[in-house]
Amino acid sequence: MYKKSEVRKIVLLIASELAPKGVQITRIEFEGPEIAVYIKNPQVLVSHPDVAKDIAKKLKKRIVIRTDPAIRKSPKETVEIIKQLVPPEAGITSIMFDNVLGEVIIKARKVGLVYGKGRAIYNKILAETGWRPTIIREPPVKPEDLKTINNIIGYMLSQSSYRLRVLREVGERIHRGVIFENRYVRITALGGFLEVGRSAILVETSESKILLDVGINPGGHGYDLYPRLDLSQVPLEEIDAVVITHAHLDHMGLVPYLFKYGYRGPVYATKPTRDLMVLSQLDLLDIMQRGSQRPPYSQLEVKKMILHTIPLEYGEVTDIAPDVKLTFYNAGHILGSAMAHLHIGEGLHNIVYTGDFKFGRTRLLDKANTVFPRVETVIMESTYGDRNQPPRDEAELELISVISRTAAHKGKALIPVMAVGRAQEILLVLVDALNRKLLPKDVKIYIDGSIREVNAIHLTYPELLSAQVRSKILRDENPFEHESIVRVEKKQQREEIAKSDEPAVILATSGMLNGGPSVEYLRLLAPDPRNALIFVAYQAKGTLGRRILDGEREITMVTEDGRLETVKINMNVVSIDGFSGHSDRRQLLAFLANMKPKPKNIILNHGEPQAIYSLAETIRKRARHLGLPSDIRVYTPGVLESLHVAGTA
Ligand SMILES: [Zn+2]
Ligand SMILES: [Zn+2]
Repeated sequence: MYKKSEVRKIVLLIASELAPKGVQITRIEFEGPEIAVYIKNPQVLVSHPDVAKDIAKKLKKRIVIRTDPAIRKSPKETVEIIKQLVPPEAGITSIMFDNVLGEVIIKARKVGLVYGKGRAIYNKILAETGWRPTIIREPPVKPEDLKTINNIIGYMLSQSSYRLRVLREVGERIHRGVIFENRYVRITALGGFLEVGRSAILVETSESKILLDVGINPGGHGYDLYPRLDLSQVPLEEIDAVVITHAHLDHMGLVPYLFKYGYRGPVYATKPTRDLMVLSQLDLLDIMQRGSQRPPYSQLEVKKMILHTIPLEYGEVTDIAPDVKLTFYNAGHILGSAMAHLHIGEGLHNIVYTGDFKFGRTRLLDKANTVFPRVETVIMESTYGDRNQPPRDEAELELISVISRTAAHKGKALIPVMAVGRAQEILLVLVDALNRKLLPKDVKIYIDGSIREVNAIHLTYPELLSAQVRSKILRDENPFEHESIVRVEKKQQREEIAKSDEPAVILATSGMLNGGPSVEYLRLLAPDPRNALIFVAYQAKGTLGRRILDGEREITMVTEDGRLETVKINMNVVSIDGFSGHSDRRQLLAFLANMKPKPKNIILNHGEPQAIYSLAETIRKRARHLGLPSDIRVYTPGVLESLHVAGTA
């Protein structure tokens, strides 16, 4: 596909498009999935703002315009020019420079005002200074809540030369020639099939190997903790790309481990997924070290992963291998969650991997996408394949009534939540209830763990949130805050909160009680029958959360100082369905019914066997009713099974 002559063709086409518009090109490079065109006179972009977009459309490639280093103004002059061009209401908080890529990073309160109408100011900055702006929203929160985001940006800036080298290598690999004519597509289940946890899928063609998600099993022990990356067909140096659908540990918890064992290729994820993934992995390392477990990797590999991560936006068609294009679509599950669409071999085959998805609106997010350019095979999550969830408003009422009843006895309600997703969803419910005076006035809501930082990451990307939440954030309101919400800053506070006589709600991580502050609160609150433990999310097999949910009332715990302690669970254990970020059975079927176009193959994953088998049977029975072809093939593979979905055997 991209033989040397093809590369020359691309260069010639770009040159012939740009020359008549007066653009002076100094060089053209492959940088990751993008073609970087270095130019000498960015001023022409003011009169021809769509120049890059036009070529991108013609070439079906992503184009980025960069400037020749010789024409860039000094940082001092550039800062002056930016301050003249951008209105003060934009609230610029910092301006930083990436000398290697020629980018100026502008952080501001109101990013729209930095871009200007139709990106007019953005183009002017580029034209007048020679620096390409990267504009980042900085929400008005405490600086410590932006720690991870700022560390990521700072680290990438400090390692810019390395990053450019990575991008060039990735670019060359993507545009290497196609060698084999015998084309096939094979999907291998490495983890998360007939189970929930350690999601990982290998997609192989005669040209390339792609890994979709590389998670850990939150309830796993020993061998089933990690996906089967030990397979001989997964040599890390031969993997072309790692694609991460969203920032839950069961989908991305093991990505840094790949770097520990020699992977040096790209990781594709949305920007919020990158930020949340780093935060959650560092959190995991912290929890494992405290629990005296040996972590599978260190901070070093998390940093390596950051430098190899290439952020993509929804709907951006991106070459990730000579014969594979990737496009992300909204999955409605958590901030930045994506369905991955793979277009293979110029139309040989198209795969949609849903990742975790919600085909239903939540307070936080819009519902998942259903329309794709083409699709033959869908790999679909099935967590609730055998169950429906009660409507959201019923679930909300139940949550409020359990909290109110607990508060009436001066008890405390502990809600274990994953830092990403359910925490924000529940906070929105509680803030709304407080505003509508549905909760007793004296109830304090404590948030502990990385929730605050995750909230701040939500405020950084309002464009990806539901219209209601977005408009609040753009008005500079923090939808996750209320005067009754208290941040737990120090560990010592936990004991004080547990001992106090005041009613309270505690939102703490982790969501399945496998480590983190939620377990600490459980130990403190469990013996008192006035207290309540409220589950609002799926509890994976093998986790402490699941064991309690299944009826265990006496548990042995390891305390922070290493003692063994037996804790009796006398507190009221309640599980409230309906808050899930997953589609329930009805929504899974509705997704298939609404999917355009219809697939020929459905591969079910991310569910326990009874959920998967029940869903598979229903899909087969109702195929016609769902608008699926009558010969639809529904597969329910287990881990280590492979499916040959296209090409000759
Ligand atoms: Zn998830
Ligand atoms: Zn999952």
